[in-house]
Amino acid sequence: MGPAHSDGIGMTSARTRERLVSRLRSAGVKSPEVLERIRVVPRHLFVDEALSSRAYEDTALPIGYGQTISQPFVVASMTAALIDDQPLPLARVLEIGTGCGYQSAVLAPFAERIISIERIGPLARRARLKLRELRIHNVSVRHGDGFAGWPQRAPYDGILVAAAPEEVPQALLDQLADGGRLVMPVGPAGRQQLLRITRRGDSFRRQTLGLVSFVPLLEGMRS
Ligand code: SAH
Repeated sequence: MGPAHSDGIGMTSARTRERLVSRLRSAGVKSPEVLERIRVVPRHLFVDEALSSRAYEDTALPIGYGQTISQPFVVASMTAALIDDQPLPLARVLEIGTGCGYQSAVLAPFAERIISIERIGPLARRARLKLRELRIHNVSVRHGDGFAGWPQRAPYDGILVAAAPEEVPQALLDQLADGGRLVMPVGPAGRQQLLRITRRGDSFRRQTLGLVSFVPLLEGMRS
């Protein structure tokens, strides 16, 4: 490889990305496809330039409006929980809490079509531009309130929620396809559990995947 490129795939960056992948692997992320995706998605382009040197640390970072880009370990674990043992690509996925669009970018090749909902208008616009710039064309970012899901395109084979409500919104269960999965954090700050709910007909199997810490899922939209 030549000298460092302006797109950040330089020597240092390649090494720091490798380090992040090894870290996630030792933290228990097993899916080789997901780890490869973490390696290639340029996380430094989703954060402010002032923070780009920290983009490959396994931490959440501020993205403005009081929100954060999710921790890579959490993005990798949720993506793996959504897709493992499923026929890929999933036909239709709903994501709630677009933020800067990083999780959408990681998920993109595992789905034919992703609808991603963000309640903060400027974040939705910025994520839309970023995904376009990275030539990710199968994600539609919508400014809306994720509590309602997005019934226009339901049912979904996968629903992934990146902010925590106190309880699972009924609308999201209703919009899950037969065999579909919902991966989301639930509970009050400090006591959130990551859940995976699988629908079979009218029964919903619930698995708990561990304690997590997300920003709250808030009602309503903000322009
Ligand atoms: N996964 C994102 C980060 C998510 S942070 C990333 O990779 O950057 C959680 C996001 O959920 C925030 O941007 C917040 O504004 C959004 N959010 C909170 N409540 C919401 C709701 N009801 N509907 C849609 N988005 C919501």
